[in-house]
Amino acid sequence: MYNANKNRYEDMIYNRVGKSGLKISALGLGFWHNFGSVDPYENQKAIVHQAFDLGITYFDLANNYGPIPGSAEESFGRMMSQDMKPYRDEMVITSKAGYDMWDGPYGSWGSRKSIIASADQSLTRLGLDYVDIFYSHRPDPETPAEETALALDQLVREGKTLYVGISNYNGAQTTEIAKIFKKLGTPFIIHQPRYSMFDRHIERDLLPVLKQEAKSAVVYSPLAQGLLTDRYLNGIPADSRAAKSSSPFLKVGQVEKTLDTVKQLNKVAIHRGQTLAELALAWDLRQPEIASVLVGASRPEQLIDNIKALKTLNFSDADEKAIDAILIA
Ligand code: NDP
Repeated sequence: MYNANKNRYEDMIYNRVGKSGLKISALGLGFWHNFGSVDPYENQKAIVHQAFDLGITYFDLANNYGPIPGSAEESFGRMMSQDMKPYRDEMVITSKAGYDMWDGPYGSWGSRKSIIASADQSLTRLGLDYVDIFYSHRPDPETPAEETALALDQLVREGKTLYVGISNYNGAQTTEIAKIFKKLGTPFIIHQPRYSMFDRHIERDLLPVLKQEAKSAVVYSPLAQGLLTDRYLNGIPADSRAAKSSSPFLKVGQVEKTLDTVKQLNKVAIHRGQTLAELALAWDLRQPEIASVLVGASRPEQLIDNIKALKTLNFSDADEKAIDAILIA
């Protein structure tokens, strides 16, 4: 039987999400990889227990996480029913709809038909009455933003989610849907974009909009899927994401292309007394709009390393300049 670490809240930072009443842990745990039916369940459970023991309260799921799609939610649902249920009110559990989930015209994107059905399926797999945040996973160019917003609003009114969020919307799309949510009175509080030293696109387009709208971001792939760690400094380990066939979004070629930059960033990390993973996470958290960095993990120890990022969050001008110079070169 799992008994959570009694000191779990001591070292974690909890940041307010926009102007809402909700705070989330500065590190969140994502279920995109390593939580599918192809991955050992006992390891999954060990990662989740480790996360919770470290004070992580934000758990990020989506309808399609696996493989097979849906299996990450099923797995997490199994953990909840086995030994995590007593801690339900200490957790922010999220899900999303928008990417391909089932066959036919209603299994993806942002129609009311698709979002309501997908949310119901997610709750069944999770074995929960409600999630804390439900996201539109991506903007749908063929569905009016009003329809997607109304579907999310309906989920709130039916008690299936407490708050709503959007993911992968650009600045203009965010402004558009934020206006609709405001009119509807929907508790839209958070955006989930990609952000890391290797992908700074939100700095110009989205972060100013979030500031203007007083919303927060929880950013995904802050370690660029593992590239911004020491994982690949001495070759490509057989058990790494880049080597796995079930991870089509990180290729060996990307590792090779970024290695020189990674080595230089690693020197900055060492100079600051951090690992590269810690540096990469702290660097994301320097943005005031970012409430949390959403990491993945293939083993519990990675979370123990990552959480140390919170000990050195400050960046001197010299550090920032050195990092910018490496990234621009
Ligand atoms: P990261 O950039 O944090 O990459 C995670 C990977 O980095 C791990 O699987 C592991 O790789 C490696 N890693 C983590 N910590 C360490 C460490 N301390 N030392 C060495 N290697 C380490 O994030 P993800 O790309 O996994 O994304 C995180 C979450 O964001 C997802 O699970 C999902 O919830 C969400 N997400 C949302 C998207 C959206 O569209 N909204 C899209 C993508 C992700 P290895 O497996 O090789 O050990």
